[in-house]
Parts: sequence; C-alpha cells; structure tokens
Amino acid sequence: MAHNAGRYKAVIVGAGVAGLSSAYLIREKSRERGSEVDITILEAKPYAGGSTKTDIVNGYTCEWGPNGFLDNEPLTLELIKMLGMEDRLVRANEASSRRFIYHNGKMREVELNPIRFLKSDIVSLPIKLRMALEYFVPAKKNGDDETVYSFGKRRLGAGFARYLLDPMVSGIFAGNIKELSLKAVFPKMVEMEKEYGGLFKAMFAKRKEARRNGKKAGGPAGPGATLHTFKYGMGELTETLAEEMRDELRLSSPVLSIRKENGKFMIITDNYKVEADHVILACPSYETSKMIKDIDTRVAGYLNEIKFAPVDVVCHGCKSDNVGRSVDGFGVLVPRSERIRSLGSLWCDSIFPGQAPKGHHLFRTILGGACDPDIVNLNDESLDRVAQRDLSRLIDIRNEPDFTKVFRYPRGIAQYTIGHLARVAATEQMERDLPGLFFTGVSYRGVSVNGCVKDAFRVADKFRDMERSG
Ligand SMILES: Cc1cc2nc3c(=O)[nH]c(=O)nc-3n(C[C@H](O)[C@H](O)[C@H](O)COP(=O)(O)OP(=O)(O)OC[C@H]3O[C@@H](n4cnc5c(N)ncnc54)[C@H](O)[C@@H]3O)c2cc1C
Repeated sequence: MAHNAGRYKAVIVGAGVAGLSSAYLIREKSRERGSEVDITILEAKPYAGGSTKTDIVNGYTCEWGPNGFLDNEPLTLELIKMLGMEDRLVRANEASSRRFIYHNGKMREVELNPIRFLKSDIVSLPIKLRMALEYFVPAKKNGDDETVYSFGKRRLGAGFARYLLDPMVSGIFAGNIKELSLKAVFPKMVEMEKEYGGLFKAMFAKRKEARRNGKKAGGPAGPGATLHTFKYGMGELTETLAEEMRDELRLSSPVLSIRKENGKFMIITDNYKVEADHVILACPSYETSKMIKDIDTRVAGYLNEIKFAPVDVVCHGCKSDNVGRSVDGFGVLVPRSERIRSLGSLWCDSIFPGQAPKGHHLFRTILGGACDPDIVNLNDESLDRVAQRDLSRLIDIRNEPDFTKVFRYPRGIAQYTIGHLARVAATEQMERDLPGLFFTGVSYRGVSVNGCVKDAFRVADKFRDMERSG
C-alpha cells in the first residue's frame, strides 16, 4: 500500500465519540508498535464531541445526548483507563435501580424480582399469566429475522409487547418496535432462544451455571450493569479525547465527497482537499451516503435506507418543594397507549446526585421518536410547554420550572430496522474491496456510546493489522 515517507496518512471524518475514539486508538496502537500515523480529523461543526457534550448551567448538569454508559462493555472501561480518567468516573446512585412505567394513568414500579413482579400492579393478571407461559412457547424454527414486536408478542404475549416492551425499547432506541430488527438490536435474545429454547429457560440455565461457578447471575439480558458518567458529565469523555487529539483536529471542515485517485483516497471538504491512505467514516450514515456515492452508488443507497428518529430533550430544573411526587429512582417510561406525548422522563439528580443544586431537581424529558415524526414541527417554546404539561401529570410539578434548556435532534437515533444487517454487511464488503476504508459510529453496530467505542477498537485493530501486513 502506498504511504508517505514511511508514515500512513489517515483521515477521520466526524469528531463525535466514534471518530475521536477511533483516531485516539489508532494513534495509541500504532505508537505501541513504534510507528507513527499522520492523522487528520475533519469535523463539520465548529466544536468537537457530536452529541456527547455537557452544559453545566446554574448548577444543573445538562447532557446534550447520552447521560451515561453501562459498565458492561470492557472496551469502554479500557479506553477510560488509557485516557487516565478512572478517577473521574461517577457511579449511578443505588436509588436509580428503581424504574417506573406510567400505565393506565398511574405510575407503577417495575419489579425485577419475579415474585414481586407477579404481585405488583404493573400489568393485569392475564398479561402476567401469558408472560409466565413463555416457558412453554416453542423456539422459532427458521432463522429469519423478525421485528422486536413480533418476538415479544410471540414469546411473552401482546400485552407485554405493548405495555412493557414498547416503552423500554422507546427508552433506548426511540424506535418503533413494529419496525426494529430483533437480530440487529437484541442479538442476545436471538441466541438465548436458539441455544436454550426460550428466555426463562435461558435464565434458569444461566442461574444454574452461575451457582455451579459460585457467581451471581443477572436477568434475561445478562449480568446487571451499572450506569456511569464523569464528574462533570459525559462531555468530559469527548473533551478529553479532543484535547488529546487537538493537533489533529480540523473544526468547521465539512466533508463533501470522497474519491479514489491513484490508489489513494481524496477527501474533499468545502474549501480544501486531503489525500490519505485510510479514511474512517465516523459521521452519520446519511452523510456518509452522500460522500461515497461516486465510489459505490449501491452502498450509498443502502446507507440512505438507514433512518434516524427525531429526538428532543427538554431539561427542567425545579425547586424540590414544587414536585408533588417522590422522584427517587431512574425515571419513568410511557407506553404509546397512554395519552402522554413524552416518551419518558429521567430524574437526573436522583441517578447522579450533584447534577442539580441543593434543594432542586433536574428532569430530562425525552420527546419524539420514530412513532412521533411530527415533533420536528414544534419550536422550543412548544416543546417546553408539552414537556411541562406531561411532567405535571407524571410527577406533579406544580409551578413553572426555574430553568429550561432544550436540545433538538431532527435525526437523533439510528433505527436498525429489518434489513439493517444486510446494509451493514454491504459496508463490510466495501471495506474488504477498498482496504483502508472504514465505516463506524452510531449508524452500524450499536446506538450507544459503548457500541461506538467497541467499534472504534475494531477499526483500530484492523488498522494495526493492515499496518503490520503493509
Ligand atoms: C438524545 C439522545 C440521548 C442519548 N442517550 C444515550 C445514553 O444515555 N447512553 C448512550 O450510551 N447513548 C445515548 N445516546 C446515543 C449516543 O449519543 C451515541 O451513541 C453517540 O453519541 C454517537 O456518536 P457518534 O460519534 O457516532 O455520532 P455523533 O455524536 O452524531 O457525531 C458525529 C459527528 O460527525 C460530524 N459530521 C456530520 N457530517 C459531517 C461531515 N459531512 N463532515 C465532517 N463531519 C461531519 C457531526 O458534526 C458530529 O460531530 C443518545 C443519543 C441522543 C441523541
């Protein structure tokens, strides 16, 4: 492979958590081998971080996008260790293990213990009985993909899918469970059904195995994980990465297109061109689609099929005395069957004490999602009004909040709908056909910060292997 005076030139497009961690890991892994890579990160906006940013205003920690990450992805913890940020980590409060669902006009706690769940009023008795029958539902015979809704209904019943699965999935993907691909969003569920014959069977088998090994088993989704952030919020992660890569970062440099010329990649921004041996495309797939259309129209078409759901976040700060209901817990999710527009509300200072001034609470109301595309037509004022109205019903907020901040994402969260895995496979084929080209970030293999970091390690490892064989 052609390279410049013994040094590879790598261009990373996009400086969100995906692009920044890919760039940092490529640099560090090359240094470990005693080689240097010439890196340039091109970011369209005048700031780095993408949606992983934090504003601290009047003592309220307002997250633009992610409010934390789970500690069940060892590679995220490894990145944090490499960055020397372990002492910045903040673990979620114990109280935040309490989660609520608003069902039939009432807030109900989600009990994770099976006996307490059966005794709770979260859903009706027939729904609970149908859930218990999951043990006897035969495993799916063919390996075809299905929607998350179809899986939930088939194994645990329609009531479970509507009142429990739907809000839980909205809370993570802001998605429509009747469109999301089970294989793409919950591959573990597919494995559990295939390997053990069902979810309860898998859970019992795992418990037995854990007892044999003297370990603790988790729920059906695996061992329990704890949410973490940093002392000054999630923005610390991207700020630290951007500071590490400050000499390589070019802000206000939107990439328009990429061409292949004389065995190299030519990256064209709005006012200059950069030549490179490697290009890491770490911006959203709809942007990448435009960039690569001259190299591969077919893959560009696939990328254009990956839809993003609109998501808006309204942060409200209130005096504790103005909140009528106990807000000790993680927050509340709202099924679409309720007459409440918000997808849910997170209770930030209960999850991470210190995210609101003393005697105050910070709430984060999430609106929009794949089932409410019209949310994009609301201005900030209307969003604030809707969120306040919903909060007054959910947690009895009595007066005007002292503080409001709105974050809007017309294309917020990637939707891994049926066919997603084929689209990702097309990008993987293109990576093989054009060595040096990489697709990474939220659009492909995981919508969470953990998913992005894990994929950044994949990119950096592949890069190192190519360096070795180059
Ligand atoms: C409201 C909300 C809440 C969330 N909550 C959580 C959570 O609690 N936990 C969690 O783990 N995840 C959460 N997520 C998901 C998380 O934010 C993403 O996983 C992560 O931020 C994606 O990082 P990324 O780098 O792939 O994309 P982004 O952060 O979107 O970064 C992409 C970058 O590419 C740049 N770019 C775009 N086009 C171009 C171009 N043409 N040229 C150059 N640069 C370009 C953009 O400006 C941007 O900086 C949430 C997301 C949202 C929106």
